[in-house]
Amino acid sequence: MPPKTIEEPARQIPLYGEYEVAVLGGGPAGIAASVAAARAGKRTLLIERYGFLGGMGTAAGVTNFCGLHANVHGEIRQVVHGVADELLARIDRLGGLNAPHMVFGKIAAQAYDTAAYKCAADDLLLGQGVEILFHALGAGVVMDIDETVRALIVETKSGRAAVIGRMFIDCSGDGDLAAWAGAPFELGDGAGSMLYPTMMFRVNGVDPAAAGEAWKTIPALMDEATRRGETFPRKGARTQPNGASTSPR
Ligand SMILES: Cc1cc2nc3c(=O)[nH]c(=O)nc-3n(C[C@H](O)[C@H](O)[C@H](O)COP(=O)(O)OP(=O)(O)OC[C@H]3O[C@@H](n4cnc5c(N)ncnc54)[C@H](O)[C@@H]3O)c2cc1C
Repeated sequence: MPPKTIEEPARQIPLYGEYEVAVLGGGPAGIAASVAAARAGKRTLLIERYGFLGGMGTAAGVTNFCGLHANVHGEIRQVVHGVADELLARIDRLGGLNAPHMVFGKIAAQAYDTAAYKCAADDLLLGQGVEILFHALGAGVVMDIDETVRALIVETKSGRAAVIGRMFIDCSGDGDLAAWAGAPFELGDGAGSMLYPTMMFRVNGVDPAAAGEAWKTIPALMDEATRRGETFPRKGARTQPNGASTSPR
């Protein structure tokens, strides 16, 4: 039987830097956390594996904020503000923000252009003095004897390095840092089922008037296909106006 593991020799690795706050992940959570930390006067570093901010909102083509609004006694209004407003204003200034639209006829979501989101988030963080380390994959932690995280290990094109922090915030969306630090976690329903997958894709050159209420017609077509014997991992397609500069506001 060939061996299943190999011993990696211990080695000294360079120190990238020492920070009061180190944030892993540059999605909406990481953006808000790092801006808040920098505003509190902390020397802050945000570490992101890709070369841009926005997390799934940009990398996975989510293209709308759903969750900023709520139905308050029958009135749909924006209830999340703070850093979100500052990000929205910057995206809007770049011409990349649509007026809120209704989703499933129930709640408002606000569509944006992903390139504008990336630029707006850069501007927001750099304006607050947050340092950003792009193209760096968090790969593990070094623990202190008191079971606190002493350093985050990152893999970059320049090699492996360590970020020392007084406080670490896990905004990886996957709980990577927390898991490396030994925090307990559960996966899905514990019986192998995880969150269902969603495929986001973008269609250009659509006449929004002719497309109409596609969020109603597409699910109806899917129901029809199901009756014919087709199967889908998820029912209920959603559509949202994107490319803010060409969509009606
Ligand atoms: C397909 C899909 C459709 C969705 N639809 C909607 C929608 O229509 N409207 C809506 O509002 N929300 C939607 N969501 C949910 C929304 O995207 C998430 O709630 C939101 O992105 C969570 O933000 P986050 O910052 O916690 O994590 P994420 O957005 O996941 O950001 C995590 C960041 O951490 C980085 N990262 C992860 N691990 C590491 C590591 N080890 N080292 C370095 N960097 C790392 C990632 O690259 C990413 O940039 C959707 C999500 C998906 C995936």
